[in-house]
Amino acid sequence: MTLDMTPFYAQAGNVPFKDRWAVMPFRGSTPIDKSLLQQTWQDLQQQVMPKSKRLMYIHIPFCATHCLFCGFYQNPLHQHDTKRYTQYLIEELLMDANSALSQSAPIHAVYFGGGTPTALSADELHQIITTIRRNYPLAPDCEITIEGRILNFDDEKIDACLEAGANRFSIGIQTFNTNIRKRLGRTSDKQQAIKFLTDLAMRDKAAVVCDLIFGLPKQTLQTWSKDLAIIGDLPLDGVDLYALNLLPTTPLFKGVENGRVVVADAQEKAEFYRTGVEYLAQLGWNQLSNSHFGKTTRERNLYNLLIKQGADYLAFGSCAGGNLNGQSFMIDRNLERYYQQLNKQQKPLMMMLQPGSQLGWLHRLQGGIEAGRVDLNALTIHANQLLPLIKQWHQVGLLMSDHLILRLTTSGRFWASNLLFALQKLLMVLNEPELAKRQIESMATKNPNGGSNSIKRPENSAVEHIKLNNIEK
Ligand code: SF4
Repeated sequence: MTLDMTPFYAQAGNVPFKDRWAVMPFRGSTPIDKSLLQQTWQDLQQQVMPKSKRLMYIHIPFCATHCLFCGFYQNPLHQHDTKRYTQYLIEELLMDANSALSQSAPIHAVYFGGGTPTALSADELHQIITTIRRNYPLAPDCEITIEGRILNFDDEKIDACLEAGANRFSIGIQTFNTNIRKRLGRTSDKQQAIKFLTDLAMRDKAAVVCDLIFGLPKQTLQTWSKDLAIIGDLPLDGVDLYALNLLPTTPLFKGVENGRVVVADAQEKAEFYRTGVEYLAQLGWNQLSNSHFGKTTRERNLYNLLIKQGADYLAFGSCAGGNLNGQSFMIDRNLERYYQQLNKQQKPLMMMLQPGSQLGWLHRLQGGIEAGRVDLNALTIHANQLLPLIKQWHQVGLLMSDHLILRLTTSGRFWASNLLFALQKLLMVLNEPELAKRQIESMATKNPNGGSNSIKRPENSAVEHIKLNNIEK
């Protein structure tokens, strides 16, 4: 198969690519028949895992309001009984706790995501964290993150989380600008957001990290700079800068489609990102990954970094997704079905995928792109064949040099999904020619007009940044 790199060449000038490309997870695995799900799960539970760093994800599928930009909204909080959900979630945790798989290696990070974990009551949060700490082999320095928002996250809940053992809070602020916040469906204003973060950080008992989004409707470089200045003044441990991810299922997407709302294009977002990275560097913050920045040594960002490196992760709660020994799985997103399965003492699985080819280089590539450094010689023995593309990317400012150890510039980090997409495709051809051929043939069968032996530039997609796991909003 010929290696055609031309679809991945970048343009010279300020806009190397027209848009950011969606990186789809590698589809090398096949779904397991529904009738075999429970037996497959039981067999998996008997396996002893290799002694590598592992993670745990807990999903809380409730939100008090639907934020305009968000594609992860599932169940309105007021229509559901969180006490009932908590009881079932604890049952699910206890059901798997004593298996050989669960106990076989330490867990280095636990992440509560959603939805909104802080929608639960103080007592419910305390019970879940305590159950995990009592029954699972957490590493002594295990990072335990509670993702939350200001709404309904009162002192009683914060105390309960800390008392039970949480040591990191990731708070979705998105912007401090009161007008933009209101348009997004956020009820608290700038002063309330600042006060909340200040009070939480001043307790000095856990890492406090705040999420900001750039590219929002009505956001300008001026409002963005004000947001960054507030971050610089707050006693935070870290901050995450995310580009707006316009997901087709969101109210915001519909607004953009029918012309009522305007959001930043890729070039404008690149400028927001550059401004943010340069400002934080000027203040001495460390860039931990493409989106994460740490000010203090307390912020490790362990869960996010390890998941990108392909670490195994256990998963619990309706709509959670996990990956164990190459087998990925998803828990039922329908709450009633989730409860019914647990009543039968069964893992409430919605689907499981057979392990496909174990592509170690793929995880190293993903982890490297996220960390801004990729050693191509460690990924393939054919690295030299990629040199023309590497030189071109260096010429347009995406890489710091034309060496086979890639180091991403700030521009390269903004366009990281494009670099990942391109390298994933090309390394597949170099490392797994038979697999690459089969994939192209299967695409050609599904779309007879679109198949060919060359790798095609992806279609521009409104979905700019695929959520690879459970964590990114
Ligand atoms: S951003 Fe968070 S709180 Fe808002 S709808 Fe999405 S998951 Fe719920």
